[in-house]
Amino acid sequence: MKKIFSLVDCNNFYVSCERVFNPKLRNQPVMVLSNNDGCVVARSNEVKKMGVRMGAPVFECRALIKKHRVEVFSSNYTLYADMSERVMHTLSRLCADMEIYSIDEAFLLLEDRGRERLTAHAQKIRKMVYQWTGIPVSVGIGTTKTLAKIANKMAKRDPANDGVFNLVRHNRLDAVLSSLEVGDIWGIGPKHAHFLYRHRIRTVKELCDLPDEWLKKQLRLPGLRTALELRGVVCYPLEKNRAPKKNTATTRSFGQPVTQLRELEEAVASFATRVAEKIRWDGQSAGSVLVFLGTNRFKKEPQYFNSHFTKFKTPTGYTPDIIAQTMTGLHKIFRAGYNYKKAGVILGGLVPADRYQKDFFGETALVEKKRAVMEALDAINTRFGSDTLQYATAGFKKNWQMRQARRSAPFSTSWNQTLKVS
Ligand SMILES: [Mg+2]
Repeated sequence: MKKIFSLVDCNNFYVSCERVFNPKLRNQPVMVLSNNDGCVVARSNEVKKMGVRMGAPVFECRALIKKHRVEVFSSNYTLYADMSERVMHTLSRLCADMEIYSIDEAFLLLEDRGRERLTAHAQKIRKMVYQWTGIPVSVGIGTTKTLAKIANKMAKRDPANDGVFNLVRHNRLDAVLSSLEVGDIWGIGPKHAHFLYRHRIRTVKELCDLPDEWLKKQLRLPGLRTALELRGVVCYPLEKNRAPKKNTATTRSFGQPVTQLRELEEAVASFATRVAEKIRWDGQSAGSVLVFLGTNRFKKEPQYFNSHFTKFKTPTGYTPDIIAQTMTGLHKIFRAGYNYKKAGVILGGLVPADRYQKDFFGETALVEKKRAVMEALDAINTRFGSDTLQYATAGFKKNWQMRQARRSAPFSTSWNQTLKVS
């Protein structure tokens, strides 16, 4: 049976997460801010209608926030990651052929049992996700990923669509493609969009009808593929197991400038702890570590950026080893007399933790011991909350932490902060 793509995308995801735990926010204008409360990264429909654009600096919106009593939140990534997992888990129960595409989007491969039944099935998916998680989603259906993406956009565009739009055997497909601008679709980045506009190609339909030769010459293979997908030719199959990541990073901008080495040590040790947790969670070990720091390039003051890279003898996921290397690196690159704004730790050369070249002279017993310690540490922190056990190097005052004045509680991941209903 022919397979059809559908794209399930959470509506205003971060805002919806806040609303699940705070129902009085429904029908209220809500926005969520980026790290350090700098820019708008999620907007409820009410805020979108006010004309606030994605990424707008929050100081530009102050008047609107006051006038419309917009509820403003700092981002709460612990909550969003957990809610994302719940949504994805629900979807995986409904469809085995699934590709998680981002924190709030997944492609599902559905069997083509006719146009009407596809639409009905999509409605069922929508209701189930809402019932099980409280998160509203939109579903787009098409014969290719690119068309499913477009259908999803259409589903959101008009409330009359009831959250589902189906482009399979749609009798006005050309009209839909003519109603969209080339810059608004998946696969056409700003550079290509600009190029197309200069050649007077404005709508998706016009792009779709261009000759293959021209597309290949001017936009290379990715451009040609996008056009083929618009015509219903699958160029991007479902990727159930996407290539595992080659590196993972934890980087932060500080809430206030940091000048002292001691404070930087704390911050960098915290980042090392976090990023080590991330790779262990993914079942990986790191072959190398990079630590970097930098000043604020937007300020007129002395500037300094530097980084230090080290390879491990044997790939590791052991936090003390990773902290030790980042400390050595930090001491080599730190210079006194600067106002540091940003630092980070990147683990590279990631390999599956159980499948690496054993060091011939290394002590297997020691490696096993380290792994057991980390397992115990992760188990305790998972059960009793992040940083129940932490390394002293990471400090306890954390003055450098991000500004997140308006963050909601991690309702779904911390027993102490579960929602109380009275
Ligand atoms: Mg979304």
